[in-house]
Amino acid sequence: MPVAPEGRTILSVVVPMYDEEAALPALVARLRPALDGAGVSYEVVAVDDGSADRTAELLEKERAGWPELRVVRLRSNAGHQAALTAGLHAAVGAYVASIDADLQDPPEKIPEMLELARAEGLDIVYGVRTDRSTDTAFKRRTAGAYYWLVRRLVGKRVTAQAGDFRLLSRVAVEALKELPTDQQQVYRLLVPWLGFPSGQVTYQRAERGRREQQVLGRQDGPARDGERHHLSAAPLRLATWAGRGPASCSAC
Ligand code: UDP
Ligand code: MG
Repeated sequence: MPVAPEGRTILSVVVPMYDEEAALPALVARLRPALDGAGVSYEVVAVDDGSADRTAELLEKERAGWPELRVVRLRSNAGHQAALTAGLHAAVGAYVASIDADLQDPPEKIPEMLELARAEGLDIVYGVRTDRSTDTAFKRRTAGAYYWLVRRLVGKRVTAQAGDFRLLSRVAVEALKELPTDQQQVYRLLVPWLGFPSGQVTYQRAERGRREQQVLGRQDGPARDGERHHLSAAPLRLATWAGRGPASCSAC
């Protein structure tokens, strides 16, 4: 892994993955050049969230030729947010970005997030969608109602179009790690709640991926993370049930 002169990894990129064998090659093909071109020491922390397909095997193969790739394997499927928690705990970078594996969010924006955070001394850079035209009308309406409610409960700092594509400083990561993890975290609420200096980069979200179609078609199997969201920070307890919102909307 290339390291900074002071021996410090500058950037970690956490990628939660559940049954992503189909998405993995395309992800690597875009994520690796984007990070190689960023000009900083980096690591990718792929969190295999108990995948039942060939995700683990493919990650091992990739690791052989990509020294910056680290793999964290969870014993069983714990859900998107729990996989993010595992990744945040494993990441060593001075900044930690998170991105989904399905390329709905562009990896090419990560260096831009890092530059912005460093130039302006920000602890949080949100990836903010410029529009929801790739979502269904129903999803747009439920998401709108959800964020209206959450902003009433948690405060105006919650950006309506920000999901789990973001960059955090080490200080922000450590603050999140201090929070109790006895219940599922909902980072899109917890991160704004921290109230740290923040900025945003905008992008257009890609078409809904294979995953969502797969979820729609799924009748049984383990509960998805969206089905068991709870908030753990005390000031956010009120919003516990609302935490189910975004992921429920995702499945709409
Ligand atoms: N994911 C995960 N565990 C799960 C479900 C999803 O780690 O139980 C990962 C998934 O592989 C992807 C990210 O979380 O990288 C977001 O999942 P998805 O694309 O299904 O979410 P959506 O786009 O519907 O919000
Ligand atoms: Mg997705």
